[in-house]
Amino acid sequence: MNQRNVSLFLLFLIPLVALGQRKDVEGMRYLDENRRPVQRKQILIPNVGEFQVLKCDFHMHTVFSDGLVWPTIRNQEVWEEGLDAFAITDHIEYTPFKSDVNVNPNRAYELVREAAAKNNLVLLKGNELTRNTPPGHFNAIFNGDASDYVVSRDNDLDKESLKKAADQNAFIFWNHPGWKPNIEGSYEWLPLIEYLYQHKMLHGIEVINGFGFHLKALDWCVDKGLTVMGSTDMHNLVAYQYDFSRDYIHRSMTLVMAKERTPESIREALEAGRTVAWASKILAGKEENVRALFEACVQLMPVHYTEVKTNGDKTNYYELRNNSDLYFELDVYEGNSTKRIVLYPRSTQQVTASAKVNTLSAEVVSTYVRSDKHLTVNFLLK
Ligand SMILES: [Zn+2]
Ligand SMILES: [Zn+2]
Repeated sequence: MNQRNVSLFLLFLIPLVALGQRKDVEGMRYLDENRRPVQRKQILIPNVGEFQVLKCDFHMHTVFSDGLVWPTIRNQEVWEEGLDAFAITDHIEYTPFKSDVNVNPNRAYELVREAAAKNNLVLLKGNELTRNTPPGHFNAIFNGDASDYVVSRDNDLDKESLKKAADQNAFIFWNHPGWKPNIEGSYEWLPLIEYLYQHKMLHGIEVINGFGFHLKALDWCVDKGLTVMGSTDMHNLVAYQYDFSRDYIHRSMTLVMAKERTPESIREALEAGRTVAWASKILAGKEENVRALFEACVQLMPVHYTEVKTNGDKTNYYELRNNSDLYFELDVYEGNSTKRIVLYPRSTQQVTASAKVNTLSAEVVSTYVRSDKHLTVNFLLK
C-alpha cells in the first residue's frame, strides 16, 4: 500500500479497533460505547544527539511475589502509559502468596513475553534479590533462569545471592537505600556494598523509588560512577497509586538514552550510565545527562521584538520553547530579565531581557544533579 492508502486504511480501521463498536444482531444490542477507549499515551521527548530517550520502568511486582496483579496487567499499564521498556522484578525471597500461586521466579516474564512483543514493548527479564535490611534489596535485570537463586534471607548468604545474578551477567542495582530509616546502617555505604562495587557486582542505584527521592543515593551515583535509576516498585495498579487526574503526574521511571530501542542498546546505555530518573516534575541524574536532556528539549529563539523606552533603554523579547513532555522550572539568577520561568510540557514562554544583557544564567530548580545542586544553564541572547 502507498502512504495515502495506508492512511485511509488506518482512518477506517482505528475507530473500529479503538472503540470496538460491534454491529447489533437480532435480539442483542451491544453497549460498547460504554467502554473506556483504550489508547497508548505518547510521551514526547526529542532525541538527545544520536540517542533516543526510552521511557523505562525496571521495578514492579505481580502475584508471583507480593504484587496484587497478574503479570499481563503490567504489560497493559506500560503500553497505555507510553513506556518503551520494562521488567517485572518479583522477589526471590519473599513470596507471601505461595499457598495460592505456584511460585516460580521466571513465570511472570514467561507470561508477559508474548503480550509485550505484540505491543511492541521491550521486556527484560528481572528479579528482586530481597536481602534483609541492611543491606536491603537489589534488582537484577538481564538475568537468566532464577530458579536456583538463594531463597534464604540469612545475611551470611548475601554475597552468594548477588553472585548468582552476577554470574549470569545481570545488570544489578541497589533498590531504595534508606527505605527503613529506623534501622541502623540501612542508608550507609556498608562493607558489603563496597565489596559488590569493587567486584563489579553493583552497577546502579535507585535514586527514585515510587514516591521516594533518595537524595544521598544520587550523590553516590555521581561520586562512584554508578547508573541513576528511577522506578515505581509498583505492587498495586499504577493508576490506583498515581493521581493521573492531575497535570504532570506520571509513574516514576528511568529515561534511558539509547542508540536503538532494543534490549542490547538499553544494556549498553545502562552500562554507560546514560540515564535520568524522572518523577513527575523532577529530573535527577548526572549533570552531563540532565544537561544533554535539557538542551535537547529547550530552545531559545532569536529576539523577535525590541521595545524602546522613552529614556532610550531597550528591552528584547524572546521565546523559550519546551519541545517535550518534561516540565522545567527555571530561576534566572543573572541577567536583567524575567526571573522565574515555568516551562510547561509542549509550551512556549515569553522572556524579556535588557538589550544590554548578552547571557541569561538560570538554575533549573526542577532538576537535581546532586542532592544539593540543580542544573545551571546559560542562554546566549541573539
Ligand atoms: Zn524492595
Ligand atoms: Zn520491589
